[in-house]
Amino acid sequence: MFFCPLYSGSSGNALFCQYGNTRLLIDAGKSGKTIEDALASIGADIRSISGVLITHEHSDHISGAGVLARKYNLPLYATRETWWAMRGKLGKIPQECMREIEAGKDFWLGDIGVVPFSIPHDAADPVGFRLYGGNLSVSTATDLGYFSEDVYANVAGSTLVLLESNHDPDMLRANPRYNAALKARILGDHGHLSNEACSSALLRLINAGTGNVILGHLSGENNTPTLARKVSSDALAREGIRPGEDIRMEVALRDEVGSVYILKERT
Ligand SMILES: [Zn+2]
Ligand SMILES: [Zn+2]
Repeated sequence: MFFCPLYSGSSGNALFCQYGNTRLLIDAGKSGKTIEDALASIGADIRSISGVLITHEHSDHISGAGVLARKYNLPLYATRETWWAMRGKLGKIPQECMREIEAGKDFWLGDIGVVPFSIPHDAADPVGFRLYGGNLSVSTATDLGYFSEDVYANVAGSTLVLLESNHDPDMLRANPRYNAALKARILGDHGHLSNEACSSALLRLINAGTGNVILGHLSGENNTPTLARKVSSDALAREGIRPGEDIRMEVALRDEVGSVYILKERT
């Protein structure tokens, strides 16, 4: 199984996954051209993509989706409420590209088994995804106000987890460009996961067997990759887990195509 965070962050999201003969994207929140170029840089032609799984209707997750659907007849998979909320944001989508999914209902997209699961966020019907290929699985959960037991149950045991490490609460509170309502939204139960909340969730996931973790969806204003990495590394180190030795941990950058993970099946 191959996985690559092409882009992850509040300025645009697109994640790549391949298993067998199937390649897919989770979200298309950069321009169509940017996503095409990012795919080309890891050796994947946009024409080889089977579909785009949409997490929710916020523009940092869908801004390139309409263009890609029209240009390449690329199917988009979203829940009914998300389709409803995306009206007017994507332009006209060919009918055959509008695929409806439901949280909790698994399905096959080619060789990849897909499980959408609900996440707590201020969107119509936001979801994370767990993708299965053979005895491997990759889970992604970004844009969540807190790490609920339900999310844990859906993600635990994954080979790789990309989890949101959005902000440092002190940087956010001190940010003069954010008004009080926006700060409350981000800090709330339907906002975004802080570095600290991410680190304690990762600790649980690693103890449940996950060996690859990616910190994603970093805020450009209220976080830095160095800080996000430090908070999680320190939390894991306190429990005797050494990133780089016991597990692989990376930070997905906002404007730089990430590493390609090659996950090997256990025999
Ligand atoms: Zn987002
Ligand atoms: Zn969002």
